[in-house]
Amino acid sequence: MDLKTLMLMLSVGSFIFGILLVIIKFNKHNIQQVPYWIAAKFLQGTGSFILYFRTTSFDFFTVLANTFLLLGCAYEAWAVRILCGYPVRRKLHMTTAAWIIFVCFLTLSFEKTYRLGVVFLVQSIFYFLPGFYLANKFDMKHSLKLLLAVSYCVVGFVFLASSFLSLVFPDFALQLAGSFIAATIPWASFIIFLLSGFVLLMLAKERSDIQSLKKSEIRFQRIVETANEGILIFDESFNIIFANKNMAAILGYTVEEMLGKPYVSLFPKSQLDIYFYQESLRKNGEDSVYECCLAKKDGSMHWFLISAKTIYDDLGRFDGSFAVLTDINERKETELLLTESNRQLIELSNKDSLTGIANRRCFDITLEHEYSRLERSKSKLSVILFDVDYFKEYNDYYGHVKGDECLRQIGNVLELCINRDVDLAARYGGEEFACILPDTDIIAAAEIAEKIRQGILDLKIEHEKSNVSQFVTASFGVITVQYSSVKSPSEIITLADRLLYKAKAQGRNRVECGEMN
Ligand code: GH3
Ligand code: MG
Ligand code: MG
Repeated sequence: MDLKTLMLMLSVGSFIFGILLVIIKFNKHNIQQVPYWIAAKFLQGTGSFILYFRTTSFDFFTVLANTFLLLGCAYEAWAVRILCGYPVRRKLHMTTAAWIIFVCFLTLSFEKTYRLGVVFLVQSIFYFLPGFYLANKFDMKHSLKLLLAVSYCVVGFVFLASSFLSLVFPDFALQLAGSFIAATIPWASFIIFLLSGFVLLMLAKERSDIQSLKKSEIRFQRIVETANEGILIFDESFNIIFANKNMAAILGYTVEEMLGKPYVSLFPKSQLDIYFYQESLRKNGEDSVYECCLAKKDGSMHWFLISAKTIYDDLGRFDGSFAVLTDINERKETELLLTESNRQLIELSNKDSLTGIANRRCFDITLEHEYSRLERSKSKLSVILFDVDYFKEYNDYYGHVKGDECLRQIGNVLELCINRDVDLAARYGGEEFACILPDTDIIAAAEIAEKIRQGILDLKIEHEKSNVSQFVTASFGVITVQYSSVKSPSEIITLADRLLYKAKAQGRNRVECGEMN
């Protein structure tokens, strides 16, 4: 292939490449564009085109072609510089362009070999430059970058050698002009044109991919940083590897303080079960949403609704997890207060205000429940009903306040005599009290009633108006039933009341027992 054809190919190739880059530039979906690259290609194309048409080897057109080619080389160097991540200031490329134009036109006054030498020298600089930029940013993953860097430098050397010959041994260079220089230089330019076009396109693609990745990374980082929720990411050992500002702020830490912290260290002792359960879920690849309170830096607790997900590595193995924490502290505290006041309310509604033991309401509900349980358990249920003797007289003689105090003390005795959790001691009404004793036969129930009777007597509350004792006493009716023996809870009370009436009738301060089989 002769020199002219090569020049034409270079020219057409450069223009086509330049047009391709223009198309890429205006394609909205493809953001891979590198400043100065299009200019470089069009300048190179124009330079080669003029060289193809020039008539003699030393005329104005040759100088013009050289100018375009050198400017093209310089702008390609700037494009590579940008691709390698270095900035190109306006001042740099404008000054360089001005110098190139100046030097090229200065060569008009030179002899042919000197002119060639100077042009080759300048051109070699602009081949070494991109080689230098690429080599500087070389990493092992990019063998293509290295290949291109080496190629630029080889071409740079070819131009430098040609320049050296032309400047130092002009006569020798003239002899070689027809063979060595004339053949090597255009071919070197052509090969570097093909190679750089291909590799730089790939680098540009990679650069744009990284840029768009960085953009989306920044976007996501902003979302995470400004999110109202707390966000935590954990490694496979459940140590915190990321915490957003909001998370750190709620817990009273700085983000730096949180990094590296084991997640478990945020859990108070009372929540450790939750932690270990959640840890096992994550390791099994299960996601979950749970409520939990975490310890703040100052030791206080804070409630969160935690949505946790497992993170897998490329091979699908457990690689950590992340959690989005919603602050539910206010809601939870209100909820806890509400639960507590509900509990107190229920307790109050079941409590007798004078004696502090269960009230009639609670007694009725419990008896209903125990009665229905009787059917399933087939066991025995005992009920004790007792009434303070001559209490009207006590009230009339000692006054209502003393009367209340007396009832209070009897309530205490009752509570002391009832030991099992399943038993219930209640104030049935006025000066009447009652006990529900599930799974208790008549003998045990009578013993308890006797214990209470003795306990009341042992209080030694003076009662001058009593006809049975100098102290306050009570009369007891004790009934033991089975499910088959009674039709309703109220029937049990009627039976106990009958026995109590019997105790009253038989002289008071006594226990009357009965059993229904
Ligand atoms: P009996 O031995 O037959 O049971 O005679 P009693 O006087 O105890 O029976 P009665 O039913 O006639 O009187 C019950 C009295 O209990 C009437 C009331 O003055 C008194 N009483 C009822 N509830 C209270 C109370 O909450 N406080 C006080 N201090 N007295 C009460
Ligand atoms: Mg009474
Ligand atoms: Mg009474």
